[in-house]
Amino acid sequence: MSEAIARPGKIVCVGRNYLEHARELGNDVPERPLLFLKPPSSVIPAGAAIELPPERDSTHVDYEGEIGIVIGAPLRRADEETAVRAVRGVVALNDVSARDLQKSEPQWLRAKGFDTFCPIGPESPAPADLAALTVVTRVNGAERQRASAHEMAFAIPTLLAYISQVMTLEPGDVVATGTPAGVGPLAPGDVVEVEVVGHSTVRNPVVAARA
Ligand code: ZN
Repeated sequence: MSEAIARPGKIVCVGRNYLEHARELGNDVPERPLLFLKPPSSVIPAGAAIELPPERDSTHVDYEGEIGIVIGAPLRRADEETAVRAVRGVVALNDVSARDLQKSEPQWLRAKGFDTFCPIGPESPAPADLAALTVVTRVNGAERQRASAHEMAFAIPTLLAYISQVMTLEPGDVVATGTPAGVGPLAPGDVVEVEVVGHSTVRNPVVAARA
């Protein structure tokens, strides 16, 4: 059975990993995976509120439904076969993003790093075929995103091996594998749900900035 995950040591994220999403934001898929980090302090579980930043910081916050991969064994400069064997589980993950900050600042730390900007669902065991995973995002019950891992520019084993050339992936670390087309803004009162079909769901209400 699935259970809420402990706070990851790190969350490594992949940008522009689906062609249609890259294009909807006016970008191409990069030649190599585009990596960034979200801080562990941004993680919240299912049911906890996503808190929008004060308007002085951001006025445009998007959901990004993603397939999250949980690492089970240390990975350093691994090949793809080794990387796949180190996968422990799968989680639904929402890479909540302050899009205005992402566009105006070359580093994405603020855009991606606010408290509550990383809802993560319960972990379930990884399937044998990671490419068969499907992610769906709904806002207030209406479907906004749906894609299969087959559609990724860089497949999950490629991503894990690539990341491990730079930094050791440690047990409990999470890799967010990129969001498909259909991202859109969140407003106070919305409920956003990311589902990795058959594996994990994370549903969170959205609230305005608290004082
Ligand atoms: Zn993302």
